[in-house]
Amino acid sequence: MNIQSINPATEEIVESFELYSSAQIDEALASAHTAFRAWRETNFALRSALFQRIATYLRAHKTALGRMASLEMGKPLSESEAEVEKCAWSCEYYAENAEHFLEDEKIATNATDSYVSYQPLGVVLALMPWNFPFWQVFRFAAPALMAGNTAVLKHASNVSRCALEIERVFRECGFPEGVFRTVLVPGAETGKLIADHRIAAVTLTGSEEAGIAVASTSGQHLKKHVLELGGSDYFIVLEDADLDAAAQTAVRSRFQNTGQSCIAAKRFIIVEAVAEAFEHKFVEAAATLRVGNPLQRETQIGPMARGDLRATLDKQVQSSVNMGAKILFGGRPLDGRGYFYAPTIVTHVTPEMPLFYEETFGPVAAITHARDTDHAIELANTSKFGLGGNLWTRNVDRARALARRLESGSTFLNGMTASDPRLPFGGIKHSGYGRELSVFGIREFVNIQTVWIG
Ligand code: NAP
Repeated sequence: MNIQSINPATEEIVESFELYSSAQIDEALASAHTAFRAWRETNFALRSALFQRIATYLRAHKTALGRMASLEMGKPLSESEAEVEKCAWSCEYYAENAEHFLEDEKIATNATDSYVSYQPLGVVLALMPWNFPFWQVFRFAAPALMAGNTAVLKHASNVSRCALEIERVFRECGFPEGVFRTVLVPGAETGKLIADHRIAAVTLTGSEEAGIAVASTSGQHLKKHVLELGGSDYFIVLEDADLDAAAQTAVRSRFQNTGQSCIAAKRFIIVEAVAEAFEHKFVEAAATLRVGNPLQRETQIGPMARGDLRATLDKQVQSSVNMGAKILFGGRPLDGRGYFYAPTIVTHVTPEMPLFYEETFGPVAAITHARDTDHAIELANTSKFGLGGNLWTRNVDRARALARRLESGSTFLNGMTASDPRLPFGGIKHSGYGRELSVFGIREFVNIQTVWIG
């Protein structure tokens, strides 16, 4: 059977790929499993040198790699290149810090000596999404491999070229055979991979639906797993906020990657006193966005990644409008070839509407008015998701206090939510569990081993 990568800007087939046969899957799993025995014995200096080499390679080839991502999923080229740069940064970060993060930790007890040591688990299966086809993989792989694990990647079915290319980059940069392998398998068939005795643990970045399936299969087979799922991040603007800065950031946060980011601001919760003024500035800033061919450097908004995703987004907009929401800007698919959707801002959105209670994975901002600060916090927490969010106020002490009441894995005060290798990343509620990045990320796929000496 074949899977195809389709250029979402033109709807033309970029490339077709044969799905892996059972024998090919078996070979990849065996190779990663065998490689683990030797890889876990390598020292940090060797692993660091290899990751430094990858970082150099990624920087040197960011345009070619970025182009692959743009062709397969439609991200503007400038953003694809920035994504590849960020992968390089993350590789360097773990090359420099992994040894320190995983040093033995002495703990005083009544033993002669007692300490915690961190040992790798084995082969980690990574199920990854298409929206940041390089970043999602490297942010998992750098800590997991630096910790001494090996990896098998099953990427989203619309970015197979990126998936194969990542495997090739690991090989080309000198990683031993089997330390990083890619398999081309459809999402619905990952159960067999999770169940395989050679897989020690699983990490999924993807939708809530995939999370439920992966959690249940991993649970049946008692495999450790981390889930990085969808989000519907709040963006709260209080009456004393810097409205210009908030509106500029709102545009970047909602429309970056054509709105297809788990931590994009999705629900704009604005206190009534400043709602009109904020909406005016937001629309004004969004109107400057340049929609077009993702391969042209001046493009800021490309197509959505797939036609079905655009149809879902449009349905969320139209149902919410039928329930009383008002379109301030955009609000429809664009005519012509490609899965383009007009950058859209909708106001008077209420918690009963799909634009509020579902995840919107595309260039649509939903504005909800709040009576006051307490109401804004209550609205922000009225979501099954709990990934990230923003809060805008000039009173930083008040912001710190309010942050403790916000139900999300991260909250960014007066700035845009973004992942950073130095900070933990992950969600609560239906946004998943576990953390990536920082010291917390590298300790997800290790055996936290107690050693006690009498
Ligand atoms: P998706 O449809 O859930 O797919 C994610 C990965 O899981 C793909 O490799 C997919 O394979 C696989 N998959 C799909 N259904 C599965 C199932 N039942 N069992 C096992 N694996 C399955 O998500 P997506 O459309 O690629 O990505 C968008 C979603 O990811 C959004 O909800 C977004 O918020 C979320 N996301 C979260 C984070 C985070 O860090 N929290 C980051 C980025 C994206 P196939 O492609 O072959 O179906």
